Amino acid sequence: MKYAGVIRQVQKAPRVAFLADAMLGSIARKLRVFGFDTLYNAQAHDDEILKIAMEQDRVILTADKELFNRIVKIGAHGVLVSGDASELEDLVHILRKSGIKSVGMDGIGSRCSVCNGSLKERRLDRVKKNDDNNVEDFVPERVIAYHNQFFQCTACGKIYWEGSHLKRITDLVRKLDAELIGRTCTTTTTTSC
Ligand SMILES: [Zn+2]
Repeated sequence: MKYAGVIRQVQKAPRVAFLADAMLGSIARKLRVFGFDTLYNAQAHDDEILKIAMEQDRVILTADKELFNRIVKIGAHGVLVSGDASELEDLVHILRKSGIKSVGMDGIGSRCSVCNGSLKERRLDRVKKNDDNNVEDFVPERVIAYHNQFFQCTACGKIYWEGSHLKRITDLVRKLDAELIGRTCTTTTTTSC
């Protein structure tokens, strides 16, 4: 268990779904924490990315101009992410271009940051364990003592709870929302504001 997740309330994730290209792993993890369905595979080739995005109606996130030109050409949805901007600026740009006006706090924790699986609330004694492991192998004793709300990824089994980085994520969400409220973009994802 490397980090504790942040859970307030599990809600239905926003409808827009993303597919991040190999260079955008950190952004992909953040979008998942915010509750957005976000595929990320560092090994995926451009052809594969385009195919999956078209089949699953996903917005492709890329900093690669060549790939972005192909996205526009075939009529897929994409957002060209700047290679030079800060991560906050990139996230604001992506959310604006996708017509998302607020990240809010409610969606946080609805996706596993590692694998994009959905999270389900679980009582600690109901957390599914591997036969060879105790729950203590996944959740430190100190955490068990002080927390009573846990969530588990339905795909990879990772366990989340309200952790110390709650404030960090909350601050990021607050900054994002302030930016999004400041100026909204209603154009489609492949055109400029
Ligand atoms: Zn997972």
